[in-house]
Amino acid sequence: MPTAATSLDAPASPCERIDAFFDEIGELIGQRNAIDGRLVEIVAEIDREGLWGATGARSLPALVAWKTGVSPRNAEVMVAVAHRVEEFPRCVEAMCEGRLSLDQVGVVAEHAAEGSDEHYAQFAESATVTQLRKAVSLEPRPEPEPESKPEPERSIKKTTHEDGSATYAIRLPKLEAAKFDAAMASHQDALVAAWKRDHDTDGSGEAVSEQAPQFPNQVDGFMSLVEAGWDTDVALRPHGQHTTVVVHLDAEKHTAALHLGPALTADERRYLLCDATCEVWLERHGQPIGAGRSTRAISRRLRRALEHRDRCCVVPGCGGTRGLHAHHVIHWEDGGVTELGNLVLVCPYHHRLHHRGGITITGPADRLVVTDAAGRQLDGGSLARPPTTPAPQVPPCPGPTGERAQWWWYQPYEPPPVPSAN
Ligand SMILES: [Zn+2]
Ligand SMILES: [Zn+2]
Repeated sequence: MPTAATSLDAPASPCERIDAFFDEIGELIGQRNAIDGRLVEIVAEIDREGLWGATGARSLPALVAWKTGVSPRNAEVMVAVAHRVEEFPRCVEAMCEGRLSLDQVGVVAEHAAEGSDEHYAQFAESATVTQLRKAVSLEPRPEPEPESKPEPERSIKKTTHEDGSATYAIRLPKLEAAKFDAAMASHQDALVAAWKRDHDTDGSGEAVSEQAPQFPNQVDGFMSLVEAGWDTDVALRPHGQHTTVVVHLDAEKHTAALHLGPALTADERRYLLCDATCEVWLERHGQPIGAGRSTRAISRRLRRALEHRDRCCVVPGCGGTRGLHAHHVIHWEDGGVTELGNLVLVCPYHHRLHHRGGITITGPADRLVVTDAAGRQLDGGSLARPPTTPAPQVPPCPGPTGERAQWWWYQPYEPPPVPSAN
């Protein structure tokens, strides 16, 4: 029977319903932006004070991905903004007030020129992420060198640091540099594709462990390029032998040195000898007494069983799958056996960190306990829990209007002219 129903129980029209949803989305996005703003400030502080080093994470983005449960890429964006908090105070403030999203400010932090805070804080209020990307790409780039200039000298400079690491400065002419970039990018792409396969192995289509760090970066691409070149070179040689790291181990004193190289610290020795990837020469009084492989060598079968059980680096929050080492929980030097119960897979980063004392790994393998340098037990989950404090008090954020798409009147950011020297 048609009655004068109150507006409360009248069915809402599609128009009214979508408006109500938009209202709520605006409210929630405002809060989310403000929360992201605060998260960025916290990450900036962790970064400034170098606090992440003691957490057992392999990098600041890895820590953020692990503890927040966001994807490695989102964590990178958060860290990029955190790095430039002081350069972009207005953009970050707009985020904290709920007006700009992390993705919007992320584009600016990852690509915009120094001194452009004011410019983008204004532009971003109405620009979508795509428009911001375009705006940033319109910034003037340094002029190409005039044609007549001679090609720069090609060079590779290596600087070795005290800790044995090295910095390489490689200078290539434009075209060779482009070839190098393309080759490295192609290797990185291949690694990324493999990484994606690895992280969706149950076929469910769900991103199984999106938060796992170790997303292949440029350095991984570079090393893959080097290894591929090396493999090809080795295949051309008659004996097909990889040059391997050779360690001389004194059987009595338990001291070790690299072949024709420096003596190793106790940490380095235990790290190198833990996995069976290098060749060990046992010596007594400087005389070789044999190549001591039998006790620690890991058969292909054992290695497969290990891979089947662990799947990835066993350090919580890591999820690394490439170049995994088989770590002896009780070192074979101390009588630890090379058996499933005493072995776990760890990524090279965490393996080294462990043998330097940055994390502890205590077995047996099926009841593994990993702690950070301060002895706190690491667990794999994010820190997310039901909130106990009210959401930030910020106005709703309707999102960018996206209306400024008329690029012919957009003025790209121009850095102020550099005062001339005279
Ligand atoms: Zn080890
Ligand atoms: Zn790891």
